[in-house]
Amino acid sequence: PLRLDHPDRSLVDQLALTVERHAAAVALDFLGRETTYAALAGQVERAAEGLRRLGVGPGDPVALLMPNCPQHVVAFYAVLRLGAVVVEHNPLYTAEELRGPFRDHGARVAVVWDKVAPVVGALREDSAIEHVVAVDLTAALPLAKRLALRLPVAKARSARAELTAPAPGAVPWSELVAAPPLAADHPRPAPDDVALVLYTSGTTGAPKGAELRHRNLMANCVQGRAWVPGLREGEETFLVALPLFHAYGITISLLAGVLLGARLVLLPKPDVDLVLDAVRRRVPTFVPAVPPLYRRIAEEAERRGTSLRGIRYALSGAMPLPADLVERWEAATGGLLVEGYGLTETSPVVVGNPMSPKRRPGAIGVPFPDVEVRVADRDDPARDVPLGEPGELLVRGPQVFSGYRGRPEETAAAFHDGWFRTGDVVTMSEDGFLTVVDRVKELIITGGFNVYPSEVEAALRSHPDVADAAVVGVAQAGSGSEEVVAAVVAEPGRTPDPAALEAHARRALTPYKVPRRFVVLDELPTNPMGKVLRREVQALVRDTAPD
Ligand code: ATP
Repeated sequence: PLRLDHPDRSLVDQLALTVERHAAAVALDFLGRETTYAALAGQVERAAEGLRRLGVGPGDPVALLMPNCPQHVVAFYAVLRLGAVVVEHNPLYTAEELRGPFRDHGARVAVVWDKVAPVVGALREDSAIEHVVAVDLTAALPLAKRLALRLPVAKARSARAELTAPAPGAVPWSELVAAPPLAADHPRPAPDDVALVLYTSGTTGAPKGAELRHRNLMANCVQGRAWVPGLREGEETFLVALPLFHAYGITISLLAGVLLGARLVLLPKPDVDLVLDAVRRRVPTFVPAVPPLYRRIAEEAERRGTSLRGIRYALSGAMPLPADLVERWEAATGGLLVEGYGLTETSPVVVGNPMSPKRRPGAIGVPFPDVEVRVADRDDPARDVPLGEPGELLVRGPQVFSGYRGRPEETAAAFHDGWFRTGDVVTMSEDGFLTVVDRVKELIITGGFNVYPSEVEAALRSHPDVADAAVVGVAQAGSGSEEVVAAVVAEPGRTPDPAALEAHARRALTPYKVPRRFVVLDELPTNPMGKVLRREVQALVRDTAPD
């Protein structure tokens, strides 16, 4: 692979360098409120001192639960400045969902959106939490209420109760940043220190904290920057629409933006109204996002007559990027939309399509600079599969994490001989392009046969009555086998008929891949990135199983 010169620099020293070069440039733009790089640096030093006074020291985990907002960025860098470790969580999670991770990381301090301070406060009894710093966004964010009430339906009841309870003993953010700046000679983190812990299920189920070092995250920024040579330092506007509690939003929107001295337009949620509002104020030049968001933006912009001209680059990840969407987006913007691939454990990007007309729709692309890949036998990862055949993608590179926090066994299982096992099944073409076939953990084993859900889903989506489909395996009592079950969402105004869907699937698929049951849902449950939550689909289709 191509070799890059990686600076031996922490994320904190990178921010300092950018501040030196672009002090007066706007770093953050939050709903029109601007913060320069110099002002950002000043707030980081004060918040760092405030956190130090709460007892945060080198290596200590500090939990952050916030939508994208300036305080989120300030807190992120303040924690790093102390040599401490940022632990990001989805701010809309319930106490139930946070309990396990909080016990696991043992953070004593959390910086949180005040609306969710009671949720974190409720964890005091069975976690190490001592101090909750509450960030009030109401002044800047009249949307705060709407944000909170748009919780997933199933969670809304308990969440609302939690939201109205007071947060006893929370420290207001304003108090934290009223501290004087941290002493200039306060020790800074080293490139090999852990910077960030992100919880991910990985290939084996229960959420584990992937530890990412400054060096890993810096490497991915430098690789990303080399991937898009057309981006110019000090002249770009990045749209930070993806959540800053996910690897993609953190590295590709925030950290890469800071590397470039870009203007970062922070959106508190990936909402199409907010995106179009931001575009009308100033057209972003780089828009990293996920396919459902690109689609909503393209559709709404067209409907409202908002021009997207000037968006030069868009890098899509997390799930397959449909070819029709590429065409539509590129026609509307005059720029490029290419697909990349990554995981939390790899900071996240490892493979991408060239940012040029050489990109190949349908493929995830070729390895990033300094990344080596293998396509290996799932059962015997020492062995490569023949070119063109499906196998598990193994990767090696400077952005690959070194382990799950406090879990040596799961860490060992994630690697084979120094190669990280992605758990994704891919094929490689003669000219080195990779295509995702499916995920190992989603593989359905029915009567001894392997069924890759994405193949079945594609067959179902090609039916005119079907807008979307998710195919899952449901364990059959006693047999050790799984039954293939499809959840489908109807095209507006259509009523899919199970018999017709089955006949349609039979024309495209061998019999063992044809779903045994079809369940029609109003919508598929998705995570904040728009990825289908298969475990929830499984639970939903199980609920509708005939006895
Ligand atoms: P969770 O941790 O909540 O279980 P997850 O396992 O999806 O979620 P992430 O690290 O967020 O964790 O996502 C990584 C996965 O996303 C990859 O292993 C791969 O399956 C999928 N993915 C990423 N990019 C693409 C892409 N371009 N095409 C298809 N799948 C992708």
